[in-house]
Amino acid sequence: MKEEEIRPIRVFDEYLRLAALDADKYFNKSPRQLVLCPACGTRGVYSFSKHGFSYEECPVCQTLFVSPRPPAQDFFRYYQESDSAKFFATTFYRETSEARREKLWRPKALMVSEMLQKYGARQHALLDIGGGYGIFAEEYERLTNKKVTVIEPGPELAQICRQKGLTVIEAFLENVTAEQLPAGPKVFVSFELFEHLHDTRVFLQHLHALMRPGDVFLFTTLSGMGVDIQTLWDESKSVSLQHLNFFNPKSVRLLIEGIGFRALDVSTPGKLDIDILYNNQAQIKDRFWRNFVAHASQEQRQEWQDFIAGQGFSSHMFVVCECP
Ligand SMILES: [Zn+2]
Repeated sequence: MKEEEIRPIRVFDEYLRLAALDADKYFNKSPRQLVLCPACGTRGVYSFSKHGFSYEECPVCQTLFVSPRPPAQDFFRYYQESDSAKFFATTFYRETSEARREKLWRPKALMVSEMLQKYGARQHALLDIGGGYGIFAEEYERLTNKKVTVIEPGPELAQICRQKGLTVIEAFLENVTAEQLPAGPKVFVSFELFEHLHDTRVFLQHLHALMRPGDVFLFTTLSGMGVDIQTLWDESKSVSLQHLNFFNPKSVRLLIEGIGFRALDVSTPGKLDIDILYNNQAQIKDRFWRNFVAHASQEQRQEWQDFIAGQGFSSHMFVVCECP
């Protein structure tokens, strides 16, 4: 898979341009509150500022996070009203949805079903938190013949999911009650949501309270220890205003085990790190990586990508945990 296939550079750069304008428009007057490392509670060390946001790195577990942080309601307003959020939901979605379905969601549905098989949770009812347009849910239903429930707070997105025949709980997870959930054992999934959460601890505590022993939570998020993010750092396009938390395989374990989950699997099956470096050569400051991507053959880049992913150093992280 290539970055261009799921994030065409022209469309992605326009989105980032609008996001930079919105960062100023929606947050420049926001009060800010210091937050401690969301994984281990240590006071962060300032690393850089970007688009008016300050990023700190935890000296203990290397989580990268926004602190001080504007209040949650400013982010709600941004998601509901801003030009960049609208652009993402309309133009970006329209121009990439079919490629993403094929390159991203269909393989993800297969991977999730294999992972659940491995942990004996393949027959559990599946709930997709922040299910968006319902594409994962559609692909998972098609693959497994099992019904998926989408938990989606956005009214337009919830309506799109209903039109697709999906069962929808129209709410933020933090407001969902146990009575709204299907009966029996459950698997909760969330994709590319965790990096956006204003308070990961509140989210996980609420989720944990909804789960019964043996229920599974499976999610993907960005790892700040991934090769492309470590190398590009403040120049990384993943470091943009909507992303507040960059955990890593070590710190995400601290986080979920601190809440009371048992980690079953933490891996980084990413495919794009080296391709992202290849596409951003002018922004690479490190001599080795700059020269590596300029010299390596396509086959070599692929072998390095596979090695990075296998070693836990890709920026795409996949976590499976259960309620013990
Ligand atoms: Zn930490």
